[in-house]
Amino acid sequence: MLNKHSTLLWLRRDLRLDDNAALYKALKQSQKVCAVFVFDRDILDLLPANDRRVTFIWQSVHALQQAFSLQGGRLFVLHGKASELIPTLAEHLGVDCVVAAEDYEPNAIRRDDVVNLALTAKGIAFSLVKDQVIFAKDEVLSQKKTPLTVFTPYKNAWLKTVNSFYLSPYPIASYYDRLWQPDLNIEEASSLNQMGFIEQSLLVQAGEAGAAIAWQDFIKRMDGYKAYRDFPAVKGVSYLSVHLRFGTLSIRKLAAEAWQRGGEGAATWLSELIWREFYMQFLWHHPTVSNQAYKVEWRDQPWGNRQDWFEAWCEGRTGYPIVDAAMRQLNQTGFMHNRLRMIVAAFLIKDLDINWQWGEAYFAQQLLDFELSSNNGGWQWAASTGCDAAQPFRIFNPILQSQKFDPEGKFIRKYVPELAALSSTDIHAPWDLTPMMRQAAGLVLGKDYPLPIVKHDAARKLALEKYEMIKNKLSSARAE
Ligand SMILES: Cc1cc2nc3c(=O)[nH]c(=O)nc-3n(C[C@H](O)[C@H](O)[C@H](O)COP(=O)(O)OP(=O)(O)OC[C@H]3O[C@@H](n4cnc5c(N)ncnc54)[C@H](O)[C@@H]3O)c2cc1C
Repeated sequence: MLNKHSTLLWLRRDLRLDDNAALYKALKQSQKVCAVFVFDRDILDLLPANDRRVTFIWQSVHALQQAFSLQGGRLFVLHGKASELIPTLAEHLGVDCVVAAEDYEPNAIRRDDVVNLALTAKGIAFSLVKDQVIFAKDEVLSQKKTPLTVFTPYKNAWLKTVNSFYLSPYPIASYYDRLWQPDLNIEEASSLNQMGFIEQSLLVQAGEAGAAIAWQDFIKRMDGYKAYRDFPAVKGVSYLSVHLRFGTLSIRKLAAEAWQRGGEGAATWLSELIWREFYMQFLWHHPTVSNQAYKVEWRDQPWGNRQDWFEAWCEGRTGYPIVDAAMRQLNQTGFMHNRLRMIVAAFLIKDLDINWQWGEAYFAQQLLDFELSSNNGGWQWAASTGCDAAQPFRIFNPILQSQKFDPEGKFIRKYVPELAALSSTDIHAPWDLTPMMRQAAGLVLGKDYPLPIVKHDAARKLALEKYEMIKNKLSSARAE
């Protein structure tokens, strides 16, 4: 309904025109709509100059600026504190409403509350709409109308609730004539350098165009997802997480394709999209998990926390080839395959006895697709501290995982070239080779490649003892 004169669309993690829920709401309600993106100093000032995500956002925002301009609209690109700039810009433009897509992270919710207060004081409305998920907050609940903390019942309830209404795209293009190019002189962000960042070379193409190419590439492969998704050397997964993170792709488009397509590949992939929503609603219901274990009994567990082991893990020199290859992939590209995220997380927590929050924080710095809800969910799963977590006594064996999921050692060879001459059988545990075999492969352990920093069998025993101790403490506390 056309009930507003003009609206400012505030883009955050929905960097696209296509099927953009907030843009649709703005266009539908107003005669005139312009847009803004703020490189928010409250977030950016904490990041290093070489942060890859800022490059991804910069490239995506610039492509979007051109797309708005082509359709007769304007996207302002600002650098400063969003909580101050948004109310000021809205006032200068004289709009009667600001529209944005909902964000479910605790800091974003606090920021939006501040902006809401400032806008209200100026007599400007602030409206948030759901865009980044199919179901948010408490749209999917148990039969007793309580939040779900276990994935399978959540997934079943999600699948029961979904229908084509929730998956339909918003018909934005029919309202493009309402896009507006206000004649306002304002200082805009002119370059990454000017904001204190250095442009990084990315392996993924940013923006809506990059997202569309990646999506078309995956549609062809979706049927094989179930069969190939666990093998990091095979192109089995979608690599769409960064586009979902920054909203260069619409979740409705992805979920609709997977839901309608049928078959095991599509159904398994849809489950992964549902995991994403599961963790997002979980974080919204339990924001304190962002800085503590969900399960109270695991909050005060003792940790070894050896700094030198942590550094070896971060840098990919633990002496475990699959762990090192994975960490080097992360450091070099900003991406890590899901199977490897599980392996390196388990290794840090259970083999090295290092607090899962250290690993969570390192991933948060390095991942191009860093998503607080999924990252925290993944780490708390691995640490057995989360809502629907791995059993504490289930300890991944990094050698068996390596043999099973990188059987020919192709992935290891790519990121740990010093082991490239080893055979598919030998590459997973080079310390087991005889000195003659190592010599034949030109490998000196401890010089060309590290000796393992821990022995898995011994570390596993210690981890099990620790968990047994925690379990006993817990049962005696309960008995008292
Ligand atoms: C310790 C750990 C940390 C993680 N940190 C993040 C993170 O910061 N950001 C992030 O997007 N994912 C995270 N994941 C989940 C998963 O590893 C990535 O989503 C996936 O590897 C991205 O690759 P893809 O797009 O090819 O995924 P695909 O396998 O093609 O899956 C499609 C999409 O489903 C979602 N998805 C898949 N697996 C999961 C999952 N286990 N939990 C939640 N959503 C999922 C993602 O949005 C993904 O893009 C983490 C997992 C673990 C174990």
